[in-house]
Amino acid sequence: MYYILVINAGSSSLKYQLINIENTDVLAKGLVERIGIEGSILTHKGQGKEKLVIEEPMSDHKQAMGHVLHALTDPKFGVISDMSQINAVGHRILHAAEKFTQSVIINDAVTDAIRDCIKFGPLHNPANLMGIEACQSIMPNTPMVAVFDTAFHQTMPKKAYLYGLSYDAYSEYGIRRYGFHGTSHKYVSARYAKLVGKDKKDIKLVTCHLGNGSSMCAVDGGICVDTSMGLTPLAGVVMGTRCGDIDPAIVPYLMKEMKLDPDQMSTYMNKKCGVLGISGISSDFRDLAAAAKEGNERAALALEVFCYGVKKYIGAYAAAMGGLDAIVFTAGIGENDSAVRANCLKGLEFLGVKLDTQLNQMRGKEMRISSADSKVDIWCVPTNEELEIANQTYELCK
Ligand code: ADP
Repeated sequence: MYYILVINAGSSSLKYQLINIENTDVLAKGLVERIGIEGSILTHKGQGKEKLVIEEPMSDHKQAMGHVLHALTDPKFGVISDMSQINAVGHRILHAAEKFTQSVIINDAVTDAIRDCIKFGPLHNPANLMGIEACQSIMPNTPMVAVFDTAFHQTMPKKAYLYGLSYDAYSEYGIRRYGFHGTSHKYVSARYAKLVGKDKKDIKLVTCHLGNGSSMCAVDGGICVDTSMGLTPLAGVVMGTRCGDIDPAIVPYLMKEMKLDPDQMSTYMNKKCGVLGISGISSDFRDLAAAAKEGNERAALALEVFCYGVKKYIGAYAAAMGGLDAIVFTAGIGENDSAVRANCLKGLEFLGVKLDTQLNQMRGKEMRISSADSKVDIWCVPTNEELEIANQTYELCK
């Protein structure tokens, strides 16, 4: 048995899974919400056990981690008898800039590097660090690994990651495309190759991670050659509440017109735009589909803008790679929304993309959804970022 605890720490939340890496069993999973604010709550579920809910003040991540470890070792709700049974901890970290191209064992130099990148990930990196510090103080002798959202994209060539700014914006300030959801793009691209029994070196693939945050990735020969997110996860396709790619001149213009300071402008672009902003209804695609069905034009328009954006990226990446063997859909929307999948691919028949409308009705399963005569293979591959983090942690700690 080799147990890995996977931690995904947000500013006021902490998600976790305990995975037995030898058979990939999820022994327990849970979520702490409202850390540091009134109404802290932990929801925990151990395999074969009843659900446990703890509502107690948790003023910081360390206190929250203390409750998580109690839940994991609880005689009634827990799945292990002692926290020494946890062999290693894998932490999801948002931003590593150019500092790391793969996962690493956490030491002081690594936490310093994550701290250095707070400037590019001001919401996530501090929370990720709090998650690391909480675990270190409670499990000082357990090895820990940092798994970065940016790492998979570090193989992009310079022509793909450089913006058309003055070169010193890159060389002095580190402004470039970094890309995110790397753990997911890596997982689904490798999984696809395995499912079809091909060497990933022979595949030109576009992975579409479509969830609350959405990103596209061109994976050629198993490595990332381009991706849609940028310096931050705000760029690329239109998302639930994020605006995606816009003309940069809009930023100063709207700041003046709407009298917003930089932080307010950032909040506006991150939280009030995307399909929520276009529709004025919701960021959830299920709500939008229901509203569009009832004749709400802006809900229908939001869905159209989203799908059109995804389609353009598929075309662009086919051009970037000089070919296209497969398209893989993943994450909440990509795994579940057959109408969105169909609309993202509509008009791509000239590239050899042919969806099987019957197969495409399925939700949340690993399966091919292209027709037998489609030149381009189309698949749905549910993502599993926790398992990917656990695997990478194991590789470094075993
Ligand atoms: P996150 O980026 O937070 O991990 P997810 O990948 O879980 O997000 O995706 C969440 C989104 O997936 C929801 O906001 C919703 O729009 C969409 N979604 C989930 N289930 C369905 C469904 N059955 N049909 C359509 N969209 C869905």
